[in-house]
Amino acid sequence: MVKRISFWTAVVIVVFGMHFFLNASVGKVLKEVKQVRYSKPLVEEEKGEKKVIGNLTFKYTKNDKHPRTIGIEGAIDAAISSIHANKKLLSELFGNELMDEPVSIVLVEDPSKLKDVFGPTLDDGHIEGAYVFEKKSIYIRFPEDDSKLSQYTQTIVHEYTHHLINRALINAGLHFSDLPVWFHEGVAAYVQKKNSGTFSEEIKEMEKVSFKELKTNKQWENYLRAPYDPYLQSNVMAGLLVKNEGPDAVNKIIEGTKKNSFNESFAKTTGKSVASYESETFKILKDFPSMIVKARGKLNFDHNPANALQSALELNDLIPNVDEVIILISEIYAEKGDYENSIAYAEQVAHFFPNSSYYLQLANLYLVIDLDKAVEASKLAVNLANSEDKPFYQKHMNNLNTLHESVHSGNPFKGFMTYLNTENLLTDKNKADLINRILENYPLESNGREALLSFKQNLP
Ligand SMILES: [Zn+2]
Repeated sequence: MVKRISFWTAVVIVVFGMHFFLNASVGKVLKEVKQVRYSKPLVEEEKGEKKVIGNLTFKYTKNDKHPRTIGIEGAIDAAISSIHANKKLLSELFGNELMDEPVSIVLVEDPSKLKDVFGPTLDDGHIEGAYVFEKKSIYIRFPEDDSKLSQYTQTIVHEYTHHLINRALINAGLHFSDLPVWFHEGVAAYVQKKNSGTFSEEIKEMEKVSFKELKTNKQWENYLRAPYDPYLQSNVMAGLLVKNEGPDAVNKIIEGTKKNSFNESFAKTTGKSVASYESETFKILKDFPSMIVKARGKLNFDHNPANALQSALELNDLIPNVDEVIILISEIYAEKGDYENSIAYAEQVAHFFPNSSYYLQLANLYLVIDLDKAVEASKLAVNLANSEDKPFYQKHMNNLNTLHESVHSGNPFKGFMTYLNTENLLTDKNKADLINRILENYPLESNGREALLSFKQNLP
């Protein structure tokens, strides 16, 4: 029987810290869509330097006051590649013709400026970015360092989606307010979240509010704070719409609003009322946590990885990139011995939720197929650890470095044997798979082969 021990145990310790952070910050990262009628520049950067790349005009000021790890070029490159990474999805949603519509991206140095201009009613939050309809401009907080880069690229994608929704509206002779705010935000959050992570805790903790209450900016602002999460519920509703009706439903609904109200257009396009979509969305959000538990049970208690994988992939399709779900998928693939797929999902986990324990987990998976990458991931785990946890991750990195040295000095089996005896984070299944791969990798090596084989035979 395969016993599963502490494969993700280290995760639990760190995840607690993250949840705390999450509770403190939910509802505070705000992305506003607002109608502003100013003809003058809203921030200083609009009058500064300009750089035109394709349909994008970047506006910024040269700032030599405080040197940063990310310069103007870095911020521009990150914006372009994040838009590029979503081009396919965006053109499926809005059609190819809108892809070259010009838009300005204003890189705002002082984050409090964004709040002054766009968030007068928000006293306890901060604004990451804003799209201004009349000015065809995205205003975004400049990423001060690498830790802000992921939020920055997510915000670019989110605001760029607002830009496309509004171009589609203009082409149809419509106005911003012809669509409810939840639809604007839901579609923008859906695109943003296709390539970024969602914590399962966000789903468990949120209170739902009827979409009838989320039609105007004023209403939307009333629900921005925890326990409400209108972005999440609107994103899940938009995702459900795309999943059921196909991506072009978004454009069809917008087009249909020329002749009918939004609700009528929605019903004509989908064959269902907004209210019925709302019930379906709320049911998904309510059931999601227990569906994760069920899928995990299929792996850990029924020992049926194939069945567990099917359920977990369905969940990932329903609400993409939820931490517990992609961790589970990675675990299932490892259990099936499919390390390539297990690593692909573990890489997503580490990328979407960068923390030490996920990099350590990734290092343990790389170990089976690429020792250099394992060492690299364990270094990242050390770098990301807080001072209290650092020794734990350093010990793991040292073990890997010792292994690396043994392998490169021609003693692979001895190195792996020492590693297996000192490292207690691998499951028995991982250990057995690891030994099989090593033995395959060094068919001619005899020194230490017997010891590895007998270690494997003694695994429970
Ligand atoms: Zn938005």
